[in-house]
Amino acid sequence: MRAYNFSAGPSTLPLEVLEEAQRDLLDFAGTGMSVTEISHRNKAFEAIVNEGEALLRELMGIPEDYAVLFVQGGASTQFAAVPLNLMHRGKADYIVTGNFAKKAWQEGKIYGDAACVASSEDKTYTYIPDPASVAFREDTDYVHICSNNTIFGTRYAEFPRTKAPLVADMSSEILSREIDVRNFGVIYAGAQKNLAPAGVTIVIARRDLIQDPLPACPTMLKWKVQDENKSLYNTPPCFSIYMATLVLRRLKKLGGVKEMNKINEYKAGLLYDFIDNSPFYTNRVEKKFRSIMNVPFVTPSAELDAKFVKEASANGLVSLKGHRLVGGMRASIYNAMPVEGVQALIAFMKQFEKENA
Ligand SMILES: *Cc1c(COP(=O)(O)O)cnc(C)c1O
Repeated sequence: MRAYNFSAGPSTLPLEVLEEAQRDLLDFAGTGMSVTEISHRNKAFEAIVNEGEALLRELMGIPEDYAVLFVQGGASTQFAAVPLNLMHRGKADYIVTGNFAKKAWQEGKIYGDAACVASSEDKTYTYIPDPASVAFREDTDYVHICSNNTIFGTRYAEFPRTKAPLVADMSSEILSREIDVRNFGVIYAGAQKNLAPAGVTIVIARRDLIQDPLPACPTMLKWKVQDENKSLYNTPPCFSIYMATLVLRRLKKLGGVKEMNKINEYKAGLLYDFIDNSPFYTNRVEKKFRSIMNVPFVTPSAELDAKFVKEASANGLVSLKGHRLVGGMRASIYNAMPVEGVQALIAFMKQFEKENA
C-alpha cells in the first residue's frame, strides 16, 4: 500500500505521474531506451524540455521577456547565483522570515552589502513582517524574500512592492497559488517540493536583469548562459525535467493553478479548522500568514509529539516529524497530496487525541 507521505521535501508525487513514468521507464517515446539513458541532445528529450518550459509559461502566465531555466544545484545554489547575477552595485536587501531566507541572506553577504531589513526571528518566525513598514534602502540591486517558509509554515499574504527588483525563493509553493510574475524580477524554486524529484531547480528571470553577471560568476551559474542555451549548456538533470513535465501536464489537465489553489485552500482549511477547534493541537502561526503547503503543529508535550509521529507512521501517515529547529509535527500538503490524505491525517489526529488527551 502507498503511504500518505507528508515529507517537506523531497515529497510526494502524483500517483498517475509515477505510473506513467513507470510505463515509460524501459521505452521512452518509442526510442527503445529509458529517459534516463538517452542523450540530452536527443530530439525526444529536447521535446520534453520545450514542452516543460511552454507548460510552465502557460500555467504561471510567464511573459516572453522572462527566461525560464531548468538548472541544477538546488535552491541553495541560487542563494549564490542571485547576487552573482544581479549585484552590480554590490547592495541588496533581504527579508528574513525563516531558515532558508536567512541562509540566502548569509550567502548574499559573501558577495556584497547584503542587509537584513526586516526579520520575524523575534517571534520564532511565526509571522511575516508588514512589507509596508519595511525601510528598504536606496540604490539596491534587488530585494530578496522567501515567499513560503517551509520549516515555520508561513507565507506572504501580500508581496512587497519594491523599487528594486523583487527576488523570491518559491521552492515550497511554486504553482500552488496564482501569482503575478510581473511583480517579480526573479523567481526560483527547487523542484522537489511541488514539482518533480530532486535534481532540477526552476529559475524565472526577467531577461533585462540578467545580461551582465558579475565577472566572478561561474559559467554554470550565469542565467544568461543557461538562457542562451535553452537550459542545455551542459547535461541537465534529464529525469527530473521529464518528471516535471509530466507533473505540469497533469496540472494543466486539472484546470491549472487557479483550480489547484482551490484544492490547496480546501485541504489546508480542513486541517487548520480541525487544529483550531481542538484543545489538544496547536499551530502557533499568526492566522493571516499560515502556509497552505506546510502546516506545523504540536500536542501538549514533546513526549506526545514523539508518540504521535511514531503511531501515525505505523498507520501509513509518514514523515510527519517537524523540522529539528521547530520540533512537533509538520504536515506538508503540497499539490500532489490528495484530499484523502489530509482526511486520513485528521481522522488519525482525532483518534490520537481521544486516546491521549
Ligand atoms: C527546500 C528549500 C530550499 C533548499 O532547497 P535545496 O534544493 O535543498 O537547495 C530553499 N528554500 C526553500 C524555501 C525550501 O523550501
